[in-house]
Parts: sequence; C-alpha cells; structure tokens
Amino acid sequence: MPRLPRLSPQSRFEELPEQFYKRVKPQPLNNPYLVAFSPVMAELLGMEADAFEDQETIEVLTGNRLLENSDPLAMLYAGHQFGHFVPQLGDGRALMLGDLRAADGSDWEIQLKGAGLTPFSRMGDGRAVLRSTIREFLCSEAMAALGIPSTRALCITGSADPVYRETTETAAVLTRAAPSHLRFGNFEVFFYRQQYAELKILADFIIRHFYPDSATAENPYLDLLGRVAERTASLIAKWQLVGFTHGVLNSDNMSILGLTIDYGPFGFLDTFESAFVCNHTDAQGRYAYDQQPQVGLFNLSCLAQAMLPLFDQEDGQNAAEMAREVLQGYQGSYESFYNKGMAAKLGLTDSREGDDRLFSSLFATMEGQVDFTNFFRGLCDFDESVDKPPLRDQFIQREKFDLWCIDYRQRLVAESSNREKRRASMLACNPHYILRNYLVHKAIVSAQKGDYSEVVELQRVLQTPFVEQAGMSAYTDPPPDWARGLELSCSS
Ligand code: AMP
Ligand code: MG
Repeated sequence: MPRLPRLSPQSRFEELPEQFYKRVKPQPLNNPYLVAFSPVMAELLGMEADAFEDQETIEVLTGNRLLENSDPLAMLYAGHQFGHFVPQLGDGRALMLGDLRAADGSDWEIQLKGAGLTPFSRMGDGRAVLRSTIREFLCSEAMAALGIPSTRALCITGSADPVYRETTETAAVLTRAAPSHLRFGNFEVFFYRQQYAELKILADFIIRHFYPDSATAENPYLDLLGRVAERTASLIAKWQLVGFTHGVLNSDNMSILGLTIDYGPFGFLDTFESAFVCNHTDAQGRYAYDQQPQVGLFNLSCLAQAMLPLFDQEDGQNAAEMAREVLQGYQGSYESFYNKGMAAKLGLTDSREGDDRLFSSLFATMEGQVDFTNFFRGLCDFDESVDKPPLRDQFIQREKFDLWCIDYRQRLVAESSNREKRRASMLACNPHYILRNYLVHKAIVSAQKGDYSEVVELQRVLQTPFVEQAGMSAYTDPPPDWARGLELSCSS
C-alpha cells in the first residue's frame, strides 16, 4: 500500500464554478512533527499507522508539500454571528486539498485547518494553535464514537513556529475530513449578493451528492430545506442527550449535512446546569446548553431566507409561507428525536402518556445536583425492588430524587421492564466516558511541553465510550477543584 493515499483527480466541490472558492497554496511551517493521529480514520482513509512515522506524510499533512492532483481551495461563505449578519466569511484558515475515496467507497473532503492565510482570513493569521487543534481532534473523534454526526479528524501536526493569541503559543495543523464541509452560510453569501443562479447551482449540487431523494420531490428545494431541518433537529437532540454544548452556534458553523462542525469553546456538562455556557465570551448566554434547540431553528430560518428565491410560488402561497410551513416541522421533529433518545437513556422500550413530564421532572431534580454523565451511567443499575437506590447519595437534595424514583419505578412496572435487559440497553446509550474539559486541559498542558501521550490516551479511551475500561476510572471523575475556574474563549 502506498504510504499516502491518492486524491481523486477532481473533487466534487470543484464541480461548482469559481465564484464558490479561491485557489490558495498552503504556507509551510518549520520542521513539522506528528502530534497524534486517529487510527480509526487512518484505516478508513486507507493509511497504515507507520505512514505517520514518515516525514513525507508529515510534510503533506502540514501543507509543506502538495499531493498529486491537489489544487487546494478555500470556500466562500457568509453567516449570522451572534445574531448579526456578516456578508463575507469563508475559510480563513482551512484549505480543502481534494477528495479521497475511503476503503468503504465513501468520498471524503480533506481539509488542512491552520495551513495559512487565505483571501478570507480578514484580521486573522490563517493559523491554528496546538491547544485548539487538540480540542477539535479529540472532540471530533469522541463525537463520532458516541454516534453523533461530526466532521472527523485524521491527525495533528505541530511546529515550534510561534502563533500569537492571548499569549504566544505554537502552530499546529489539523487534518479534518467530512463528506462535505458546506454550511448554511454557503447559501447566505449568494442570497445577500442577489446571485440567485449560484443559489440554484449550490442546491442542485447538494441534492445530487447528498440528498438524492429530494430530486424527485414535488418541490425539490423545499424538500431539501425540510431534510436539512430534520437532520439539524436530530443532531441537536443528540447533543442535548449527552450534555454537549457547541459554544459558537453561528449559521456559518451549521453543517448542511447535520454534522457537528467547527469545534471552538465547546463543553460537555459536568454538573447538570441547564443554562450552562461554555464560551466565556458569550456573556448573554446566547449559546447556552438549553438554548441550542431554538438556536437550531434560528439558523434554519437564516438558511430558509437565503433559499427563498429557489421556491416556486404555489397557488395562493408565497415562498416565505411555504418555507415557514416546512420549518414548523422542526420543533416536532426535535421533540420526537429527543423523547426517543430520553426513553432509551431511561431504558424505556415504548412511549407513553406522561413520559415528557417524567423527563422534565428528572432534569428539574438534577439541576445543580449531580454529574450529568455519571448520573445516567449510574441509573443503568437502577433496581426497582430497592427502596433507596445508592444513586441517591449523588444528590444533595435526596428526597427530591426519591420522589422522582417513585414515578420512574411505576413507569418501569407499567411496561413490565426486565432489569437485565434494561441495564444492557441503557449501558449502550449512556456513555461511561465523555471528553471532560479538565481532561482536555491536562492533555494540552502536557502536549505544550512536548508530551503527547495524554492526547493519544484520551483519544483511545474515548473511542469506546460505552465500554468500561480497566484502569481508566480517573477519566470518569468530575472536575477537581482546580478545574472549576477553567475558562474557554473563542480564541483558537
Ligand atoms: P469560527 O467561529 O472559528 O468558526 O470562525 C469564524 C470565521 O473566522 C471563519 O471565517 C474562520 O475561517 C475565521 N477565522 C477564525 N480564526 C482565524 C484565523 N486565525 N485566521 C484566519 N481566519 C480565522
Ligand atoms: Mg467556523
């Protein structure tokens, strides 16, 4: 097997005309080295592990050398950032090298994030720091292992070249991969510029490659909007169910394919706090944990507005009414995905009247009391014949939890729940390990001193998050006192 996989002669994205991107050559970094790679992604993309020991591979994955067939490009997009429209964003530090066909026949866009300036860099330096690439690397792969759609990460390369953020840090490049990196903002830019022909080209491209079923719908573009809304609803429900907060849910960070994309100041809940804000810069809490479902709808409205010129008017209905009707389905889809997921977390095999109250009263009981992940994992061992389950000791207000247990017990009895079966199914959907912020922080601090073993170890453990692994119990500890004041900003 060749050490480096071959890119397709032409990527799918390059079917789009030149208005959609700019050709850019990556800017080299000095003496690049490997920080970490994802064995799962390497295998998928047809790379042997020892390829990463090869300096040629490292040079290519840093952007210092180009692969055959590679004519890198930066994509153009716009977006609503914290509610305000920014007419032009685009890949300011990411370059698409081309498409790679995986072992299973699927096609992946390969991007280098942090490979230098592009015409869309605005005030930025085109670089990414080691700290932020480690965060994106670990979380992309952890999300995929949790069964949550995400862009993927192949590897990180680093260099001692300085990059200036709040302090001087060092440069790194993340090689990421996705079937497509298209965002809601790719539509918004052409709507703003009134380039409606480009809107149609983009929508046709997306339908052709990613939503072929929309092609035969009565109104393909409305159908496409509906499907994107459905995937978004499903994605955000999955985030809520594991306690994930994205942190910067701007419409340019919303994937057309319903993938988690652009990991900045994300955070998993430790103690359950419904209004948790992971991004220290988000003073208003616009992107708080409990706001995410409705932020999804806001972003879909931005997408719908940008797609309006594509919707043919139907009898007596204008385009905006038609779009509104489609988006009216979002809330119902979200609730249906969420309720199914919550039922699974609680080991319920069917859905019954009153379940939504059982879920909401649980969260009211958990608020500020227990570790989100450890609580649900502990609940897998719930024994309805035991009056006071050991889990109650996790609570400060134990009597409140006792009351909830009465309802839960009744609900289990009502469906004649089998304890062993229930436990097995709950263990498969309530993770034992999540990417806790303090764990990433520790791995970053070591990596900044040249020791990447924590990054590699975290990546390995999070690859099978539902399986308890010997000797790894420290990875389930809630944050120690020193970690409670850790703050994350947009700086990356
Ligand atoms: P984000 O919120 O990280 O998704 O980034 C928003 C926009 O800023 C995108 O257009 C990014 O490409 C751009 N950007 C972020 N950081 C940098 C940087 N260091 N250099 C150039 N552009 C950047
Ligand atoms: Mg972004």
